[in-house]
Formats: sequence, C-alpha cells, structure tokens
Amino acid sequence: MKINYEPKLDFDDVLLAPHRSRTASRSDIKLVRNFSFYHSDNVWEGVPVFAANMDTTGSFAMSNTLAEYAMPTCLHKHYEVDDLVRELYYPETQWYSIGIKDADIFKLNEFMDKSGVKPNICIDVANGYTDDFVDFCHRVRRHVNKHTIIMAGNVCTPEMVQELILHGGVDIVKIGIGPGSACTTRLKTGVGFPQLSAIIECSHAAHGLRNGDGRLGLVCADGGCRTPADVCKAFAAGADFVMLGGMLAGTYECEGDWQYEWVSDGKHDYYHKMVRKSLKFYGMSSSEAQSKYGGVKNYRASEGRVKEVPYKGPAKDVILDVLGGLRSACAYMGATKLKDMNKCAEFNLVNRTHFDQSV
Ligand code: 5GP
Repeated sequence: MKINYEPKLDFDDVLLAPHRSRTASRSDIKLVRNFSFYHSDNVWEGVPVFAANMDTTGSFAMSNTLAEYAMPTCLHKHYEVDDLVRELYYPETQWYSIGIKDADIFKLNEFMDKSGVKPNICIDVANGYTDDFVDFCHRVRRHVNKHTIIMAGNVCTPEMVQELILHGGVDIVKIGIGPGSACTTRLKTGVGFPQLSAIIECSHAAHGLRNGDGRLGLVCADGGCRTPADVCKAFAAGADFVMLGGMLAGTYECEGDWQYEWVSDGKHDYYHKMVRKSLKFYGMSSSEAQSKYGGVKNYRASEGRVKEVPYKGPAKDVILDVLGGLRSACAYMGATKLKDMNKCAEFNLVNRTHFDQSV
C-alpha cells in the first residue's frame, strides 16, 4: 500500500489569475489550432472541443452544428454502417468511434469499403489500463493507413499516456477516469483522479514525447466540464482537446428519449403547442445503456447514472457560451491564442471559485 501526500486538484480547487495583456479585442483571439501528430502524417485544423460519443450527444445533427464552428464530434458507435456511409463524409469533424471487439474492426472495414472515407478514429473503453487495450490500439494502427488520426482512452496517469503513444500507436490520449457527469465509477469503485491534476500531469507526459520529426503526443481532456470556466481551466492545464458530454446534453441536436410538454403561446387560452421539456441522459456504462445495447453483464457494475436534463435549446447557444468564455479567459490571462493558454496560465488554489448568485 502506498499513500501519495501531494494534493491532486479538480476544476473547483483553482481559479486562473489575470495578467497584463496587449490584446485589444476578444474577437482577435484565435481559437483555431493546427495539430500534427506523433504517428499520423495527417494535420488537423479546427477548434479543439469535441462532442462526446455518448449516444445522445454524438449524433449526426450535433456534428453538423459543431462543424459550423470547426469543432469535431465523436459520433457514437451505435449507428448502422449504412447510416454512417450516408452521413459521415467529413472526417475532420466527424470522428468514428469504436470499442475493442473484433466486430468493431469488421464494421469499420465495411464502412471504409462502402464509403471510401478514411475516418479519424476514437477507440473508447472505460478502463484503458489493460495490456489488451494497448495491443488493440496497436492493431488498429497497423490496420489503418498513416493518414488516420487515432485518439484512445480513457486513462488518467502519465505512464499509461506514454504507453499508449509509444506502444499503442495512439496520437491523442483521452484523459479522465471518473469525472463524467453521468459517471458513477468513483462511487462504485473508489477509483479516480481529480481531473485538473490528471490533465496537468498527462499533458506534460504526452508533450514530452517527440517523434523523429519533432511531432508531439497529445491529450484530450474528457469529462467533468460543467461550465465554460471548466473548459478554460482544462485548456490552461495543458489539454490539446476537450470533450463535452453533459454540457451539450439536452440541446436540440441530441438523439434519444425526449419528454414533451404542452405550453400556451401566452396569448390564447385555447392554443397550446408541444415543446421539448427534457432528455433522458445516461452514462454509456449505465444499466440503461447496457440493457439497450446488449444486456447488463453480471460481472460488471453499472458505472453510469441516468438523469433527466432540461431542454437547453440549440447546441449553438452552448457553443457560443464556451467559445466566448475561452476568448475572454485568453484576454484576461494575456494569451492572444488558445495555443498560448497553457503557457500563460497561473492557477491559484482557492476555497471557493464563485459566490452563490441566488442570494
Ligand atoms: P461529461 O462531459 O458529461 O462530464 O463527461 C463525458 C464523458 O463521460 C464521456 O466522454 C465519457 O468518457 C464519460 N462517460 C460517459 N458515460 C459514462 C459511464 O457510464 N461511466 C463512466 N465511468 N464514464 C462515462
């Protein structure tokens, strides 16, 4: 047994300090980033905020809206091949998700054969700490061409980040064990890692790896962002990409079980219309998801919760809030672009991040 006494931090433990800035206007701040990759010879340009590949948020509709802002979506893995062939035609913003079954590779092959599209791939498991997972990632890397960007996870510690990049052929390692808004891993298992420290330590490990051409390993912070401020803190901590589930859950673009209600138009007693009220949002390891996609496994705890999230309107509203927060944070910190946020970041430990606005 071992105890680490160095404190590990979450988004709520810190605030970013403002610094003198020469940035005249927030609109001058550049959020688009250009990445090259450790293994893939591809380049990627865009605003590096993903919609999560949950079956509610990782929808084609979400990918179409986010693409307008140069933001990518990890499409969920429950689409039929024919749906993917019909709708996935823009691999920069529509990433293809797989699990670690042989059937996932067969489906990927079928998709690539039928569509001719070579997608960027997200290999997604709850626990990225097994040798089988590293071997599977390596197998996928050998299977696809050099152009394919591979993101894989989740893990939360530096040695596994390096293992996945060096031996798994992964370009972007997804970071986050337990922070997700629909996740109960920490409650069921006691396992987890505060997300801000996970991002700081894992990005340091990934960025410390350079291939022969000087291209770095990268990380995507996945889970735990509840506000635009958390997204700012994730980038400031060193995340190259950030992935959002709960923040986008309940937006118009989500798929799933919607509840509707009748509302008056405010003018006529007799005129009522049906509007969206809430969406059933659940973790992808919840018993809800497990029974929907293949039955609850007795040996496996349900590590996801089910909740009803209120309708939030179009995803555009959430996106603009996040992008506005990022521009403003850059301006406060003295960064002229998203890329410089990490360099300019100074976190202060705090007792509370904000005051209760309701009093
Ligand atoms: P959020 O943005 O909602 O805080 O986190 C989204 C992330 O939570 C997803 O991208 C995924 O990594 C993680 N996640 C989704 N469903 C589950 C689940 O059922 N259990 C766990 N442990 N994590 C989940």
